[in-house]
Amino acid sequence: MSGRIRPLLLALLAALLAADAPAQAERPKHRKDRCSFCDHDPEVLARNKMHHGPFPFARTDSLAIAEEGVWEPTLLETEHFRILGDFPKWKVEADEIKVYRAELEALMDRWPEVKSKQGTLDPWYRIHLLGERLETLYSRFLQLTGSKEEDFLDPERNLMRGIGRYLGQHEKYEVMVFEDANPYREFMRNTWGLGYLKPQCWNNVDRSSLWFGVNLETDVIHHDKHLSAVVIHNIGHNMLNGYMHYSYEVPVWLYAGIGHWAEKSFDGRFDTFCSIEGNLDVGKATHDWAPQVRKMLMKGRGASFAQLIRKKSLAEIGYEDHLISWSKFDFLVQHKPEAFGAWLTELKTRKDANGFPDGTNMDEAQRNGFKEHFGWTLAKAEEEWQEWVKATYPVK
Ligand SMILES: [Zn+2]
Repeated sequence: MSGRIRPLLLALLAALLAADAPAQAERPKHRKDRCSFCDHDPEVLARNKMHHGPFPFARTDSLAIAEEGVWEPTLLETEHFRILGDFPKWKVEADEIKVYRAELEALMDRWPEVKSKQGTLDPWYRIHLLGERLETLYSRFLQLTGSKEEDFLDPERNLMRGIGRYLGQHEKYEVMVFEDANPYREFMRNTWGLGYLKPQCWNNVDRSSLWFGVNLETDVIHHDKHLSAVVIHNIGHNMLNGYMHYSYEVPVWLYAGIGHWAEKSFDGRFDTFCSIEGNLDVGKATHDWAPQVRKMLMKGRGASFAQLIRKKSLAEIGYEDHLISWSKFDFLVQHKPEAFGAWLTELKTRKDANGFPDGTNMDEAQRNGFKEHFGWTLAKAEEEWQEWVKATYPVK
């Protein structure tokens, strides 16, 4: 890099970092306006690296979005995420009260205001719980890739590598939730130029931020954890894309695989299927995927590694491919975690002869990487996976 360009880039970076500093609102005067989870306590929030906005978001910021939509979204910014939207009250189901109590009790050290016995979760509890679950996912992602938070904290080193502070992106991962379909469609149209109703990931190139939005009406989402599952699935996609900067597409089976892997490890009751609108028939899909994958294997069905790595888009990923992608992703993570992290990192940091990000010939790169990091040909990988499925997946 030439010495002449460098000061300018550093200045830009400094501006980005400055923009990132939280411009926090005053703590509301009246207790009834304060967060029931943290009481807007500035010390507690700062200790947890969070605040309740306002903050930059999508193409503008949380204040402009609220004003345009004549809307009062609930806001939470955490260390790595910005969350904005509707979080309708949700009554905890009787058989889940214990599980929620345990989740809340585990947070009481860090959040003294929290009461673990909650019959109903208000918007504040819901957004804080989502924030905690996303931060947990972020830590798991670091582990998955064999990275550490420190790897992304040195601005000079990031600059040399062409990456940003948030796994590779320059700004935090964003999550937007609408209760109703119509305002969601209006926002999508006005902001990204898409009149979509389905959940959507978006690469906000201008701010180097990966965004995800969903409305509860279209996807009939009621359960608090159903919403978290959908968000976690999609943030899984976004973190994989953002890792070492979103400069080219990852192989689609990994994109699908990480979504299911993240979602299933959060709560096995929910499965989100991303597809090109209308091409996916999930039939009478059930949530226990392990026995279904085992059955496919026994019948000689399901894509091999050699077939999976060649798939080019979600249009080529059918119902069975979703299950197989999940299983093979999970297999590599569990069976050879270190090799998997190194393999994935190599796939995400490819450079051409001129030092530019190189997303060409990804199937060859995957194949070579299997040899280098796992010590396997694709045929050998297939054999290992089959043995693992037979040994660990139940028949029913
Ligand atoms: Zn709060």
